Amino acid sequence: MMRVEPRASLVAPFKMALCGLSAVFFPSDCRLCRTPLVSLWRLPVCSECLDSLQPLRIAQCILCGERLTGAQLLVGNGQCNGCAEYPPEFDRAVSYSEYQDGLRDLIHLLKYDAVLPAAKPLGKLLAQAIAELHLPDAEAAALVPVPLHSSKRRERRFNQAELIARAAVKYLPANFTVDTKVLIRHRETRSQVGLDREARIRNMSGAFKVVAPERIQGRTLIVVDDVMTTGTTVSECARVLKHGGAANVFAATVARTLKAADGPVIRQEIEGEEAEARQLVSA
Ligand SMILES: [Zn+2]
Ligand SMILES: [Zn+2]
Repeated sequence: MMRVEPRASLVAPFKMALCGLSAVFFPSDCRLCRTPLVSLWRLPVCSECLDSLQPLRIAQCILCGERLTGAQLLVGNGQCNGCAEYPPEFDRAVSYSEYQDGLRDLIHLLKYDAVLPAAKPLGKLLAQAIAELHLPDAEAAALVPVPLHSSKRRERRFNQAELIARAAVKYLPANFTVDTKVLIRHRETRSQVGLDREARIRNMSGAFKVVAPERIQGRTLIVVDDVMTTGTTVSECARVLKHGGAANVFAATVARTLKAADGPVIRQEIEGEEAEARQLVSA
C-alpha cells in the first residue's frame, strides 16, 4: 500500500504554530543577561538589556569615528593618526556605539546564532547612527550592505548587514532605500587577524566589484555593516563604489571597535576579528 506523505505546505504552518505555542507556554531566558523573560516576544532579549544600549559619548575622529586620545585632541584637526596617515576612501564613517557588552552580544545573536529578529533593534540603532551624518533632507541615499561571498552566504543563509539595513530604512525617511544589486564580493578574503594595515588593504583589494554601475551614477551611498573593526572592508567598498560612479559614499555600522582610552592597545579589535576568524575556521 502506498504511504500517504503529509504535504509539506500543510505541515509547515502547523509546525510553526506549535513552535509559537511552545514560546507562549515556555518563554525562554533573556539571551543576553539570562533573566527569565516574562513577556512574549519573538526576540529572546529583555527590555532592560535593549534599553542598556547607549550611543557613544566620546571625542571621535571626524572621518572614521575612532577614539581621539589626548595628544590628538590637542593637535586639533579632529582626525585620528590613522586617517592622517592613510585617508579612508569613504567620506565619513559613523557607528552607533562601541563593539562590546550587550551590543556585541546582540550582534552575535543575529550573526552566529541566527536569531533573525535581532536585526530589528540593530536596524533601529543603525538608523540613529545614519541620522548623525546629517544628510540634506532632500537627498536620496541608498544603503549598500557589505556583501558576503556567495559561498559564505549559502553557508550562513543570510547576510546580517542586509537584514540590518532593511530594518534600518523603516526608521529613516522614505528617500533612504536599500540596494543589494550593485555590489558583489567576488573573491574570498582571508581573516584580517594579525595583518598590518598594508597587508589588510592587499587582502581586501579586488574583493568587491560593482555589477550595476548604472544604479549608482552620481548617487549618495551608505555602505552598511554590522561591525567596523579596522575599517578596511568598508573603505574598500567605498573605493570601488566611487570608482563605479557614486558621488558620495559614507559608511555606517551598528558597532565599531575603539582604541583603548589610555593607549594603543586594541583589545576589542583583536577580539572582534577573532570571532570572525573562528567563523572562517569553522566554515
Ligand atoms: Zn536581558
Ligand atoms: Zn580617523
